[in-house]
Amino acid sequence: MAIKRNTKETKLMSATTSAGSDEVLDFNLRPNKLDDYVGQEEVKLNLKYLIESARLRKEHLDHILLHGAPGLGKTTLANIIGAEVGVSVKVTSGPALEKQGDIASIITNLREGDILFIDEIHRLKPALEEILYSAMEDYAIDLVIGKGPAAKTMRLKLPKFTLIGATTKVSMLSSPLRDRFGAVYKLQFYSIEEIGKIITRSANILNFDLESEAAAMIAKSARQTPRIANRLLKRARDYALVHGKNNIDKVVATKCLQMLGIDEIGMDESDRQILISIIEKFRGGPVGLNSIAAIVSEDAETIEDVYEPYLLQLGMMERTARGRIATDLAYSHLGFNKTKNA
Ligand code: ADP
Repeated sequence: MAIKRNTKETKLMSATTSAGSDEVLDFNLRPNKLDDYVGQEEVKLNLKYLIESARLRKEHLDHILLHGAPGLGKTTLANIIGAEVGVSVKVTSGPALEKQGDIASIITNLREGDILFIDEIHRLKPALEEILYSAMEDYAIDLVIGKGPAAKTMRLKLPKFTLIGATTKVSMLSSPLRDRFGAVYKLQFYSIEEIGKIITRSANILNFDLESEAAAMIAKSARQTPRIANRLLKRARDYALVHGKNNIDKVVATKCLQMLGIDEIGMDESDRQILISIIEKFRGGPVGLNSIAAIVSEDAETIEDVYEPYLLQLGMMERTARGRIATDLAYSHLGFNKTKNA
């Protein structure tokens, strides 16, 4: 089977990449109360206790680490926690912080109890990570002033803040950093019913009619991920508008998903390319991530962060110490005969 590249149209409407105006819409679709945050019941229950206990003790919240695949709602949850506690949330990300002074100036500008949200915290430079240790534990930072033998260390007192870290790769966090989080929550993929609820709420906000059959189809194709579900909804709305319709029905949903190259279990062209290359070029694996990346002309990190978690979740791929393997399910879903192609 030949490896097919994405068509231009598919790329334009891609569900896994973002476009400018979509980001504004994403912001509007973000729930800002814990009760509007669909699913993740265990995490929500634990958070309620954490928040209530801090309120009763009249203390700031413990530091929280949220981990899980992209688009599962880590940033949304951090903002909701801020709103529930009634404090400001300052948002930054690991790669955006370059110098020790960057962290020092952000934290010193926080008020007592405020939240610092660091997205992609696993991408923080080691020197900055070390600064966080004392900031999180002692609410102080030791800054080095000057250079050489005349250099002096100055201890800077910080307000008692809460750090919420988010990561897609918890294993890349050093254990001293991980251990300083009082609460660590893993966000799970959502059920189809939960995704259905999320897009029904989003369709209301977008003021667009979403028929129940269409909602079920979009929910099934959304990789169990709210961000992708909302994006598919918006693409379906675009499709309906361009065809002079003011609602998303089964026909619109079918045509739109077809145009995006998304199948009935939410796999897109890139997912298929990854599995097909493992089957065709590497006899089903095991094969290393970099070899797959080279064949499908995709960045290894994107494969690992964006595509692989869902393929693993679907049971189409397995990760072993020797590399990635296409499962029997992948062979049958893509129409390959395992005995012939192995
Ligand atoms: P992450 O930070 O994990 O990448 P985000 O918090 O940015 O994910 O979530 C992406 C989008 O998905 C948000 O704009 C929000 O609209 C939606 N979303 C995420 N989780 C939920 C949820 N539990 N309930 C409703 N909408 C959600």
